[in-house]
Amino acid sequence: YRAKENKNSFQFYASEMNASVEEKLVLLEGMRSALDACPGQACQFQLLYQPKVDLRTGRLFGVEALIRWNHPEHGLISPLRFIGLAEESGLIVPLGEWVLRTACAQGQAWRDAGLPEVAISVNVSARQFEEKRLVERIDGALRDSGLPPRLLEVEVTESSLMRDLARAVDKMREIEAMGVALSIDDFGTGYSSLSALKSFPISRLKIDKSFVADLAHSRDDQAIAMAVISLGHKLDLRVIAEGVETEEQRDFLRANDCDEMQGYLYSRPVPPERIAELLAEQGTTLVAA
Ligand code: C2E
Ligand code: MG
Ligand code: MG
Ligand code: MG
Repeated sequence: YRAKENKNSFQFYASEMNASVEEKLVLLEGMRSALDACPGQACQFQLLYQPKVDLRTGRLFGVEALIRWNHPEHGLISPLRFIGLAEESGLIVPLGEWVLRTACAQGQAWRDAGLPEVAISVNVSARQFEEKRLVERIDGALRDSGLPPRLLEVEVTESSLMRDLARAVDKMREIEAMGVALSIDDFGTGYSSLSALKSFPISRLKIDKSFVADLAHSRDDQAIAMAVISLGHKLDLRVIAEGVETEEQRDFLRANDCDEMQGYLYSRPVPPERIAELLAEQGTTLVAA
């Protein structure tokens, strides 16, 4: 649609497009070879863990595993830059399996260290969720690590679920039957219907951080947050807010009966050693493994 413009600017856009396709191919090739080295010393992928805190007790009850790509030349690459491409190419399936296995093994390592129990949630994107062997893969990761299923949670977005609703509900039931919890990530940004929501065997709604960012000042966002909290509670779900950065946001959420929070206010995503420290600090009663 830029063809109308003069020759020079057209060439500019055309070469920009080429560059981005080329860039994608380079990125994809890089991802493939990086993944080939996982697990192992040379693995360039890494999981950070972000604490989830109970708003009433202040207890760190869970962590979300968040992937990072430690690129030898480009440094730490955000998942926002490569998860989409991993989805498009299908590489998300083996990459996601690495995430599941690494997170489950980490969860079990914290238990082995005698730390208080903490639930681990793992993000599962659309293609990964739809893939035939997902349930087997989850089961394999649990068995091989020894992590009890009750300590694992799978985060899915509304949009992943709505692509084939009946199938999604069946798959969620299979996951639930294994004893693994499910939550809806980025709730409010997708387009799941309320009747679909009612049929999901989930235990938690995550209020998207876009509604939290301006929570202290925006009446609209306040109304949305309050509505999600009350809807969640009426459906017997726990409600967690993501992206909580300020005390004002936390206070509003707490005053409005939100159950849990996650965000920079408490902690950024951190390496597993830091989670172990946080767990040890709060665990005056260290349980034996
Ligand atoms: P998400 O699952 O909604 O994760 C929350 C994102 O918000 C994370 O970004 C987290 O670092 C960021 N965040 C947490 N607290 C705050 C805060 O207080 N303020 C702000 N501004 N941001 C906060 P991250 O780690 O860059 O991940 C982005 C997205 O990439 C995730 O969104 C998730 O959809 C996807 N992702 C991350 N790791 C994985 C993975 O292992 N597998 C899959 N399939 N997707 C992943
Ligand atoms: Mg998430
Ligand atoms: Mg989220
Ligand atoms: Mg999000």
